[in-house]
Amino acid sequence: MNQSKLSILRLNIGGAPIEWLNWEDAACLYARDKIAWSIGEPIMEICGGRNRMTGLQTKLQLPGIIASTGTIHRGHQTTPTLSRRTVFMRDQHLCMYCGDQLSFKELTLDHIVPVSRGGKHNWTNVISACKRCNQIKSNKTPEEAGMQLLAVPYRPNRAEYLALINSKRIRSDQMQFLSSHFSRNWRELS
Ligand SMILES: [Zn+2]
Repeated sequence: MNQSKLSILRLNIGGAPIEWLNWEDAACLYARDKIAWSIGEPIMEICGGRNRMTGLQTKLQLPGIIASTGTIHRGHQTTPTLSRRTVFMRDQHLCMYCGDQLSFKELTLDHIVPVSRGGKHNWTNVISACKRCNQIKSNKTPEEAGMQLLAVPYRPNRAEYLALINSKRIRSDQMQFLSSHFSRNWRELS
């Protein structure tokens, strides 16, 4: 695995998950002495500059989970960004009407209450649906179309959102940490 692609989970000083960092950002926090504590074994080692006194190259070991003080250059919103990918992940790539498990390309986003009828484009009104069900439902509510939802859509909390956006590269210790912050809504990733 390409180490530069690995993500480091950043927590705030109180241990709440905040965001994913690449190794450059994490190294920057170390350089600025912003790391308060960390969890787990080092997942990569990076080489820094040479020590002026000894002439030896400094090495920095980066663990998978770090807690830092201060802020990072990137702002992080409190409302998790809704995207096709994250909704499909949340819904386990299942059509929430017929239960078929489908690929990214085969799924569509369905607004439970259609936008044309005042439905919002938000986490609790958007679900994944197959093209067929989406067509059958059309411009109706599920009740009008005689269709039932398999699960109630929810807005992911921060830990759930971080798991959804990085599901392919998440390490088991990171997942274990995040899962301790999951709500009852959480369904296992497919
Ligand atoms: Zn379907």
